[in-house]
Amino acid sequence: MSNKTIGLSDDLHQYLLDVSVREPEVLRRLRAETMRHPMGEMQIAPEQGQFMQVLVRMLGARRTLEVGTFTGYSALAVALALPDDGQVVACDVNEAYTAIARDYWEAAGVADRIDLRIAPALETLDALLDDGQAGTFDFAFVDADKANYDGYYERALALLRPGGLVALDNMLRGGRVADPSVDDAATQAIRALNEKLRADDRIHLSLVPIADGLTLALKK
Ligand code: CA
Repeated sequence: MSNKTIGLSDDLHQYLLDVSVREPEVLRRLRAETMRHPMGEMQIAPEQGQFMQVLVRMLGARRTLEVGTFTGYSALAVALALPDDGQVVACDVNEAYTAIARDYWEAAGVADRIDLRIAPALETLDALLDDGQAGTFDFAFVDADKANYDGYYERALALLRPGGLVALDNMLRGGRVADPSVDDAATQAIRALNEKLRADDRIHLSLVPIADGLTLALKK
């Protein structure tokens, strides 16, 4: 039997949160407001936000991308870890969700670091590529509709510099990727992308079992 990742009971997960999460007040308030929202489950976990802050700092990131902003928690977590001249190009299609995001970005004093683009993300990413911005970003976070994940990944990879990192959320789909009885389109898309990434020699790869599975693809 191979070594395997520890299962997190509710008690152990709470312990992990208690001893490691240093969530700033503004993020805590945003998370609480979002959890009252009918779609609140789409928000990333606080330990994941903090993990992404460490990644952004390790990368020395200044220019970052986000695909799927929702109410703004992940963009805010990243923006707070950037230098003063850092930037998040945040892609979403929903004005109502991102209106909540803007309020908290203002409250946190980092609204000037976040460039929200309300349009289909494939269009926004293609526009950045057409504008000659390939190879200029340090970090990208993909957390949107699963059917388009491969398209987001390919564009994000092109926009990254060598040594830049794409992080893809929900790559374990609550365990459904490993359940043969599940064959919905979104799960099929994630399975196909996981298989593709394993064989993709343009990247260094790690699927980290934090929250719902966060794949890290480090561009060679
Ligand atoms: Ca997600």
